[in-house]
Amino acid sequence: MQPWLRSYQQLLSLQYSNQQLPHAILINGVAGAGKSLLAQWLMHLLNCQQPISQDNQVNKLQACGQCKTCLLMHSNTLPDHLNLQAEKNSLGIDEIRHANDFLHKTAQFGMYKTVLITHAETMTPAAANALLKTLEEPTDYSVIVLITADIEALLPTIVSRCRVFHIQPDVGERLLDNLQQQGKVNSNNLTKCFVNLTQLPELTDDKVYELFEGFKRLYLNYLYYQQDEALLLQQVLDNKHALRWLEQITVNLQRDQLIKAANLQAEKIVLDTHVLNKLYKVIVNGDKVIKAYTQSNKQFVCQQLIMSISQVIEQAQIGK
Ligand SMILES: [Zn+2]
Repeated sequence: MQPWLRSYQQLLSLQYSNQQLPHAILINGVAGAGKSLLAQWLMHLLNCQQPISQDNQVNKLQACGQCKTCLLMHSNTLPDHLNLQAEKNSLGIDEIRHANDFLHKTAQFGMYKTVLITHAETMTPAAANALLKTLEEPTDYSVIVLITADIEALLPTIVSRCRVFHIQPDVGERLLDNLQQQGKVNSNNLTKCFVNLTQLPELTDDKVYELFEGFKRLYLNYLYYQQDEALLLQQVLDNKHALRWLEQITVNLQRDQLIKAANLQAEKIVLDTHVLNKLYKVIVNGDKVIKAYTQSNKQFVCQQLIMSISQVIEQAQIGK
C-alpha cells in the first residue's frame, strides 16, 4: 500500500474495530492516487470472517485472504458485496435501485453488506437522487464506498452525506521523508511510488502523446530559459489536458531530482526539489481556480498562473 494511504487505513481500521465506520465513504483523488487500492482493502476487510492485524495493532488490520468469504471476494462472487460501474459512461437509476434492494437484504455470510461505486461522477441526476435516499436512510452494517476523480461533478448533498477522503499522492520532500523513515530510499523504490502517476490514460493515444511531448518541451523551455511565454499560455488555454500535464511534468521533475538525491550524485541542480514543490503547489492551486471560472475569464486566470510560475522561478534565481 502506498505510504500516503496508511493514515486512512489506520483510521478506518480503528473505526472498524470500534464498530464506528461511516455508512458512506467518498474517496476523491487524481488518477494514480490509489483510490481503488484503498477501497478494495476496506471492502475485503469488511467481508473477511477473520481479519488479521499486523504487529498485533488494532489500527493495522487486513483481510486474512484465506477464509471462505475472502475467497469469494477474490473470485468476485461474494453475495454480500456489490460492484457498481458505469455502463456506456453513465450510471443509471436502475443500478442504484438494485443497490438499494441489495442493501435491504440480510447479509448471507459476514456482518456487513458492501457496495462499491466507481466513477461516481457518472451517475445520472435520477440515479444520484435515488442514491441520496439510500444515504439518508442507511441500513445496519452496510457500507457504501464511492470513488471519484471529479468530486465537483457530484451533487453537494451526496458529498455532504459521505465521509470524504481527499487522497493525494505524496510528492517531493514529503515522499522522500516517508521513504527515509522506512529506510527504503533507493532509486527503484522512488520510481515505483510514481509509476501510476506517469501513466496518464490519454497518453496511450499516439497523437495525444505527440502533443504531450511538444507541450513538455515548451514547458521545460519556459522553466529553464523563460522562453515562449505566449506559446505556453496559448497551450494552457487551448489544450484541455494542459493543467494536468503541467502537474504531471512537475511531479516527474521532482521524481528525477529525488532519484538524483538518493543516488547522491553531485550534479548541478537548476531547479531543486524545494522550487519544484512550490511550482507544484502553484499549478495545483491554478487548476482549482481555473476549474471554478467560466470560459470568458479563463484567459485572465491562465495568465495569472503563468505569472505565478514565472515568479517562483525568478525567486529561485534570486535565491542562488
Ligand atoms: Zn478472510
